[in-house]
Amino acid sequence: MEHDLTEPTIASRLEAYAEKLGDRSCRVCNGLGIVFDPLGGGRKTGDFALCRCLEAIVKAPEPPYEYYDEAKNCIVPCPARPARQAIERIRVLSAQSRIPPRYLGNYLAVGLDQADKEGDESTLMALDNAIETITSFGRGEAYGLFIHGPTGAGKTHLACIVLNEIIRLYRKQVLFAKVHRDVLSRVKATFNVNSDLYGEGRRIEEELAAIPALVIDDLGVKTMTEFESQLIYDIIDSRYDYNRLTIITSNDPIDSFREITQGRVTSRLREMCREIHLDVADHRLRHAL
Ligand SMILES: [Zn+2]
Repeated sequence: MEHDLTEPTIASRLEAYAEKLGDRSCRVCNGLGIVFDPLGGGRKTGDFALCRCLEAIVKAPEPPYEYYDEAKNCIVPCPARPARQAIERIRVLSAQSRIPPRYLGNYLAVGLDQADKEGDESTLMALDNAIETITSFGRGEAYGLFIHGPTGAGKTHLACIVLNEIIRLYRKQVLFAKVHRDVLSRVKATFNVNSDLYGEGRRIEEELAAIPALVIDDLGVKTMTEFESQLIYDIIDSRYDYNRLTIITSNDPIDSFREITQGRVTSRLREMCREIHLDVADHRLRHAL
């Protein structure tokens, strides 16, 4: 596939709606002011750091990142303070996200511009939809993803990358939830008088409905009872009402859910999500990501 240099790069498309905290002409951070270092901070999952364009103008390297300005004769914020606060917020949001540790620090990296040149059609389509979902969040439209395909195709990985990017670009709360462990089992425990979660059903459902970006991982049409299907429908429906971003991974396509809840799950998902299919054959996507 011919690569047209006038086309926007993946990075520029992705970052179109992100806040620019650095030098807008900087080629290292594209103006974001922060850069991700996969080996940063001695953390296995990497860490963010100030970009060079801001390092050069740091006036106060310690919290609360303020300094005495002689000309103004008062205490003023360091020019790099917003970027430092962004890094701190990214760390907090990542720690609260319940994204599995192996998928933390996974972003649509620069390497993907290579995939853009070489990828096959289904890989490019999956990437394109993931980018569109991330930027739709930046525009306040919240257009989700329904990622289906066999085990080992990288569905959970791609879903977590979208959450990581939302934290990096917009610093908004996200949550990763495995459907049985984090949704159905928790809600069922609220009926058990011996559980810490007893009587908390409404609160758990509201939390799942309100979180700005949610991944529901491993939704299976065959493994849910009628009560569970209804519960999932209620959560999805509330998220639709709130205009929240929802990403679902499943072994089955959206259409296979049409027999449950009189087809309401299927029609809601179609309204909220782009459906993409990943196959184990999409090895390039799995290696590129
Ligand atoms: Zn920079």
